[in-house]
Amino acid sequence: MTYCGRFAPSPTGLLHFGSLVAAVGSWLCARHADGRWLLRMEDIDPPREAPGSAQAILAALPAFGLVADAPPLFQSQRRDAYDAAFEQLRAADRVFPCWCSRAQLAAEGGMHRDGRCIAPPEPDRPPAWRLRVPDVTIAFDDALQGPQRQNLRDEAGDFVIRRVEGYYAYQLACVVDDAFQGVTEVVRGNDLLDSTPRQIWLQQCLGLPTPAYRHLPLALDARGHKLSKSDQAHPLDSAEPLPALRRALAFLDVHTAAGAHSPAALLGAALEHFDPARLPHLAARAL
Ligand code: GLU
Repeated sequence: MTYCGRFAPSPTGLLHFGSLVAAVGSWLCARHADGRWLLRMEDIDPPREAPGSAQAILAALPAFGLVADAPPLFQSQRRDAYDAAFEQLRAADRVFPCWCSRAQLAAEGGMHRDGRCIAPPEPDRPPAWRLRVPDVTIAFDDALQGPQRQNLRDEAGDFVIRRVEGYYAYQLACVVDDAFQGVTEVVRGNDLLDSTPRQIWLQQCLGLPTPAYRHLPLALDARGHKLSKSDQAHPLDSAEPLPALRRALAFLDVHTAAGAHSPAALLGAALEHFDPARLPHLAARAL
């Protein structure tokens, strides 16, 4: 099977150093395997979107030498596929409507369990939809973070797959699209390690294949906080891509030649010495 990797940013701000690391890491793994590298714009959460950031991210990537093998997939255009997955889960009685408020949920320890809503149905108000999660332990081997186990009932509970506003949740959209794009290995930041068991469970519920997973160390700022697009702490200058690209490669312990004068040349040189097994086996790392 041909390797297929992807980079799947959310358009909540401009490309920042943490997302560049995920983009570069996934690109290197795909190119090393002579595989495909695809893009997916995770624009399924309009309230959290920063206007213009989807186009800005897509314009910045080639400036950093990161060119995908196909046009990007936009999740905002994938509603029919998510509807179909939702109907498949509903037909199998794996979802239930939920009218709980945050306060009601907090009173229950912040988690739904046992496949029922604790609030009475409110037929006049649209519900959120949750997946019924049984007492199941999901185990998988992450290529960098090692063996993982999570009991879904204890640690995730019955999680939301369609929100009150009608938007599909990241977990559902991600699983449907990783399968649709034929992704064989997911390389992304370690902040998503604990979403992976929920995604594997959804794959099993929907009869979709489970890709391999490789979670890269999370980039932390000087105060030990995750860099995020929304705080804009570390926006990247795509007019001056080489310094940030060198920092991203150094962050991933990838050896680079000193003399490369373009992003493509720098990435090409990095690829010559690249070995995915030698990426840092760390949960997080300061910049
Ligand atoms: N869209 C997510 C983010 O930007 C990443 C999703 C993924 O790689 O699975 O954090």
